Amino acid sequence: MNENLVADRPTFVTHLECSMTGERYEADRLHGLSRVGRPLLVRYNLDGVRDAVSRDELARRATDMWRWRELLPVRRTESIVSLGEIETPLLPVPASGGANVLVKDEGRLPTGSFKARGLVMAVAMARELGVTRIAMPTNGNAGAALAAYATRCGIETIVFCPEDTPEVNVREIAMQGARVWRVNGLIDDCGAIVGKGAAEGRWFDFSTLKEPYRIEGKKTMGLELAAQMGWRLPDAIFYPTGGGTGLIGMWKAFDELERLGWIGPERPRMYAVQASGCAPIVRAFEQGEEHAERWEDAATVAAGIRVPRAVGDFLILRAVRESGGKALAVGDPAILKAVDECAKKDGLLLCPEGGATLAAYHQALRDGLVDEEERVVLFNCATGLKYPMPEAPNWLDRHQPIDFDKL
Ligand SMILES: *Cc1c(COP(=O)(O)O)cnc(C)c1O
Repeated sequence: MNENLVADRPTFVTHLECSMTGERYEADRLHGLSRVGRPLLVRYNLDGVRDAVSRDELARRATDMWRWRELLPVRRTESIVSLGEIETPLLPVPASGGANVLVKDEGRLPTGSFKARGLVMAVAMARELGVTRIAMPTNGNAGAALAAYATRCGIETIVFCPEDTPEVNVREIAMQGARVWRVNGLIDDCGAIVGKGAAEGRWFDFSTLKEPYRIEGKKTMGLELAAQMGWRLPDAIFYPTGGGTGLIGMWKAFDELERLGWIGPERPRMYAVQASGCAPIVRAFEQGEEHAERWEDAATVAAGIRVPRAVGDFLILRAVRESGGKALAVGDPAILKAVDECAKKDGLLLCPEGGATLAAYHQALRDGLVDEEERVVLFNCATGLKYPMPEAPNWLDRHQPIDFDKL
């Protein structure tokens, strides 16, 4: 068995902190949002981490996400419910992207998306803190990851999806043991139902950023990226942004790595990519707002980023601005074209949200925001196999003469 999943390693969580007011909350207790209704962030004794483990020692461990244990919240190794959270590869896409573009392919994680990173952590913490029933609103992938991990450790789950959630997602959630409901509304309408049940004490609310530990799981994308790139971060990161957990998590990871002295002060420019049919963060960025208003009539093929309102809006906007990046919107036609080109030219099947980052990269090149010499990382957040593909209609009758020139 993987050493990372059996070795007891020291833990360094000191407390939690409101991301808006800085108010302190005790560790090792069940928390949702802070008193002002904002996400809680986990804080660590980083001096302790620095004394306990060196960058080189960490680099020698098996490369799955549990090698970062000293920077993660789980206290007891037995709380971890693993389905094999591997380090995801960085793949060049020279033909559809360019010579300096790498895709971090998160589609290889359990349940086929990077939601596994967040949910494996959140479920471990729920288990550690004695939660027995969890509810969640989801556009698909988060629900699938929750169902898989919670079922595996005997936690009951109730999942609510917008009615037009991709069929494969609704079915995989059901297959993996959750009670799943389609709802005639968007993800925040589903969230309202979850909130109501939670207020009545029926279940624990696992909505994006409404519990503190998904960010810690998603943070491992930033830790991993730093290690994979020899502790030199890329010049720019393009991240498909819905609730923004990953972007906020990576930004937190970079901060912690710098405090540990494992990287320097330089940061990638963070580009938050949204679909033109649902771009609340882009609108708020352009208007110089600190918070993003709800986006009405949200519609895009990229279901994972169809999030009309995000509780962590100000954290996303802050990270993007501090990094010198930008929030960018791309249309569905550009998203589908990018998916098609990457598959046809580089043999890599992206999900639509991953396609959005490739489309946004090309737009940023045209607008002079990045240049071709810069090292860029795009996030492909789920396997392209979960999404509808164009028909392949060719048919051959083996009993008829075959025209081999036409094949
Ligand atoms: C959830 C999801 C996103 C958005 O991720 P956040 O970190 O919540 O912004 C993007 N793409 C896919 C495929 C997703 O499932």
